[in-house]
Amino acid sequence: MTEQTIVDTHAHLHDREFENDFQDVLTRATQVGVARIVLIGEDVANSLAAVAKAKAHPDVCWASVGLHPHRAKDFAPGVVEELAGLATSHSQVVAIGEIGLDFHYDFATPDEQLPAFRAQVELAHELKLPVVVHCREAYDVALAILKDYAARAPSAPWGVMHCFFGTLDQAKAFYDMGLLLGIGGSVTFKKAEGVHEVVREMPIEAMVLETDAPYMAPVPYRGKRNEPCYLPKVIQRIAELKNLSAEEVASATTRNARRLFRWDSWAF
Ligand SMILES: [Zn+2]
Repeated sequence: MTEQTIVDTHAHLHDREFENDFQDVLTRATQVGVARIVLIGEDVANSLAAVAKAKAHPDVCWASVGLHPHRAKDFAPGVVEELAGLATSHSQVVAIGEIGLDFHYDFATPDEQLPAFRAQVELAHELKLPVVVHCREAYDVALAILKDYAARAPSAPWGVMHCFFGTLDQAKAFYDMGLLLGIGGSVTFKKAEGVHEVVREMPIEAMVLETDAPYMAPVPYRGKRNEPCYLPKVIQRIAELKNLSAEEVASATTRNARRLFRWDSWAF
């Protein structure tokens, strides 16, 4: 492996699946060039766990805090206050998320998800932080809400559509309004033709890398626990689809992640 600097913009390494070998997972990640990992919160307690891990590993880990659409039943005004408290008292919190809409599963109804999503977009605006958006079978609704916000959002990029599975037209619409696309293990799946088309057609400036570990392991690890050291498989597939070198994919997506999370002082 040649020298490259990779950012995993979306991982859940603070979850139970990694409690026994977290340090080994980090070591394997840094060995393949993963320099920064953003740990993504799913509710208040889980966001707090992400922040704690980031503080314990400040050289590699950052955190994002939010209430996942699956947990929207837990939404209450107090949740936003607690997330705001976490975000403002810890400098390693670089985003609000994951937030969003998921109409595929019914852990929470759309009526429960919409206010939680809107309130957390407002929180991001208030705190001048980018949003990490989870979206499943709700792209057009999410598009409308985010379009509304785009007019007063900070300079682009001001968010990421994590694990993007939408159409090429939707990808263009999100990118045009200032959002990036999170590309992970699914790009290596043979049947993920929609993702292949998006990666082929969209500029590399629109993309950031992510694992969503422990989920979405790339081929040939599909079905196993995912971890950041598998990201070179994702890079390789993006490079093939876009006729770029792996180094070009790594450096461009790292540059994009740096802009997304406002890591202005990071020279890599
Ligand atoms: Zn996630």
